[in-house]
Amino acid sequence: MKDPTSVTSADWIARSLRSVWHPCTQMQHHETVPLIPVSHGRGAWLVDVQGRRYLDAISSWWVNLFGHANPRINAALKDQLDRLEHAMLAGFTHEPVIELSERLSALTGGVLGHCFYASDGASAVEIALKMSFHAWRNAGQSQKQEFVCLSGSYHGETIGALAVTDVALFRDAYGPLIQRAHVAASPDARQAQAGETPADVARRAARALEALLQERAGKVAAVIVEPLVQCATGMAMHDPLYLKEVRALCDRYQVHLIADEIAVGCGRTGTFFACEQAGIWPDFVCLSKGISGGYLPLSLVMTREAIYQAFYDADVTRGFLHSHSYTGNPLACRAALATLDIFAQDDVLARNRDWAARLTAALAPLAAHDKVRHLRQRGMIWAFDAVVDDPAAAATFSRRFFARALERELLLRPIGRTVYLMPPYILDDGEIEWLASRTREVFEEVVRP
Ligand SMILES: *Cc1c(COP(=O)(O)O)cnc(C)c1O
Repeated sequence: MKDPTSVTSADWIARSLRSVWHPCTQMQHHETVPLIPVSHGRGAWLVDVQGRRYLDAISSWWVNLFGHANPRINAALKDQLDRLEHAMLAGFTHEPVIELSERLSALTGGVLGHCFYASDGASAVEIALKMSFHAWRNAGQSQKQEFVCLSGSYHGETIGALAVTDVALFRDAYGPLIQRAHVAASPDARQAQAGETPADVARRAARALEALLQERAGKVAAVIVEPLVQCATGMAMHDPLYLKEVRALCDRYQVHLIADEIAVGCGRTGTFFACEQAGIWPDFVCLSKGISGGYLPLSLVMTREAIYQAFYDADVTRGFLHSHSYTGNPLACRAALATLDIFAQDDVLARNRDWAARLTAALAPLAAHDKVRHLRQRGMIWAFDAVVDDPAAAATFSRRFFARALERELLLRPIGRTVYLMPPYILDDGEIEWLASRTREVFEEVVRP
């Protein structure tokens, strides 16, 4: 007799593969890579239609902070749904967007007091780039049209965001469409030579950036960085000193600093904004991903009074000419407010520090593994690089790891040979131990087939 749930599962998969074009996926790989039809989520777990569970150890692409079906965020959204689901933000305003802007601004001590909204991360990057360029033009410096990004940077996959993205796989296929930015050295601490500290690597990268700015600053509008962790290139971590140095260089050479905190913001690196660990504020911060708790598409760009004033004028063309239909969506803003409430009420950043120390200890044995390099951690991000000598095995490492992890109830999706953990902030002690031991077991199976 056929199990009715498995019929449903096979049916969902077949229908999905026929009609849904999945993101960042070579669809043919689904001939061997599993597709999981999710039925529901609860806390850190996703459950498929057959009732199999998976610990969401990458927070569903880095967005989920406080678990799936979080009762507090659910309650806020249900309340908001009966008040206002959406209204346009041109000529209208509403309480969730006002309160969110005020509270985020307060988290920067009022330094970044103006919030501009969009729906996804790439759009926030586009907004920051356009705003920087336009602010210079309004200031009579229309020659400042170029951007600088870091080696290995990732800022999203729309055409403008790809211009400041240095991940060959994403960028090269669309190369002819893109006006490429300058690429400066990454401060990735893994590049330390014998006797060098991460701070030494940071200083070296800052000197390289300075050489570029010495030559080009007159034409450069902004430098864009992912503070502390360049996530999408494979969790490349750097010393906070780098951000201090870049801030000083941007001041000296009259260039804006854009901090793309889409992945590293919202407590992911241990402070609410990653930049806080360097004691600096950029000219623009981009937020998305975790800001809505992983519930709804929401992104925003925060900026300073001086930038805002550069646009403030009677002339329409000096205003910032950008909009999206769902700009400032009330439901998404309300989810963000519920997320900020949890940060405040539960003292999340302090609690995460204890929690992170336990997971770090549980993963520590991996450091001695002969197939592991650069076991590293920053806040709620853990990563290590697998040594896979055979090129064919190396090319499929990520997919094999993903599939093997799913068999062991674990959602982990390595980037190349970098295995990383970016769990939601809610695991209990048992789940922390379980996650660490399952990660070690899966790794063992994949590197020693
Ligand atoms: C995910 C990400 C983006 C793009 O966000 P989307 O919502 O996927 O468009 C941009 N920058 C960084 C650092 C990211 O991690």
